[in-house]
Amino acid sequence: MKITQHIAQAKDTLVSFEVLPPLKGKSINSIYDHLDPLMEFKPSWINVTYHRSESMFKKKADGTFEKVEVRKRPGTVGICAAIMNHYQVDAVPHIICGGFNMRETEDALIDLNFLGIDNVLALRGDAPKNEASFDAEPGGHNYAIDLLKQINNLNSGIYLDEDIQNGGKTDFCIGVAGYPEKHFEAPNPEIDLRYLKAKVDAGAGYIMTQMFFDNQKFFAFVEACRKAGINVPIIPGLKPLTSKKQLSVLPRIFHVDLPTELSNEIMKCKNDSECEQVGTEWLIQQSKELKEYGVPVLHYYTLGKPKVVRDVVKQVF
Ligand code: FAD
Repeated sequence: MKITQHIAQAKDTLVSFEVLPPLKGKSINSIYDHLDPLMEFKPSWINVTYHRSESMFKKKADGTFEKVEVRKRPGTVGICAAIMNHYQVDAVPHIICGGFNMRETEDALIDLNFLGIDNVLALRGDAPKNEASFDAEPGGHNYAIDLLKQINNLNSGIYLDEDIQNGGKTDFCIGVAGYPEKHFEAPNPEIDLRYLKAKVDAGAGYIMTQMFFDNQKFFAFVEACRKAGINVPIIPGLKPLTSKKQLSVLPRIFHVDLPTELSNEIMKCKNDSECEQVGTEWLIQQSKELKEYGVPVLHYYTLGKPKVVRDVVKQVF
């Protein structure tokens, strides 16, 4: 079922989770082990992230090095199919522009359609590690909106090769990313919002946000979206803060601010277990306030911390 239908039919706040594909070589059981403790909350869907390949140097037998492209976390499409089959719950694959040309993207979308997957989250992706800026693949997309338009075309039966006129259409519900604290490359929040509105005007059915730790930033973002004429559901993305290290890692990687009160409490902790307690309590309060505000869904980035997310959701639902 489409995310937009889940939301339209909901009588109360929904819950959903996001998982990462396991590192290459691990079995699908690692995904089930991760999700099993969370399934009692009857999530409306599970998102599965997509990871582009990275350039690595591998030593050859003669001692010289060769550059190889390695995808450390493959399997997004297969994991989505496995999750749907195993739990009878909708799975939402993330589809990225980075590392793919349009033909590869078209083939992947056809696979998803054959698997009965109704939803995709259309994203640009980030620049590869050690590269300063995002560059599209030759024959690929520069921005998420271009990917979204390709998916829309498939939904209308328009394939890349104009001579293909077999009448086959997909019917994907397309979500896009939004940033309460602005996307880090955007020159200012107004311009970022203009591009977000363009994605919605091009057919995005809902917005899923980057994580944030200060609800006031989310509320201001929703207000700005509504003022700009963005009327689709906005789903908050939530993550527990669980270690001192994250005080510097999260701002660096995800370009989010951490509130002073939360940072101070974390700095006082003697170990990660104390940090987890503080992070859990913070996320419970954040979630309760968002639920009260009337968000359609609470979406949790589980990122290796299913137990913490479980403790939070138990207190909120
Ligand atoms: P876009 O919407 O294309 O925006 C990128 C930047 O370009 C922004 O600064 C925007 O303001 C600007 N912009 C947009 N359109 C235009 C235009 N026409 N002209 C000029 N500038 C423009 N990454 C992954 O690799 N895999 C994942 O699974 C993944 N999942 C994510 C899930 C969520 C909910 C979120 C919030 C992010 C996720 N990301 C993921 C990270 C995401 O790929 C990065 O944040 C990326 O840098 C931007 O993606 P986007 O889809 O927001 O890009």
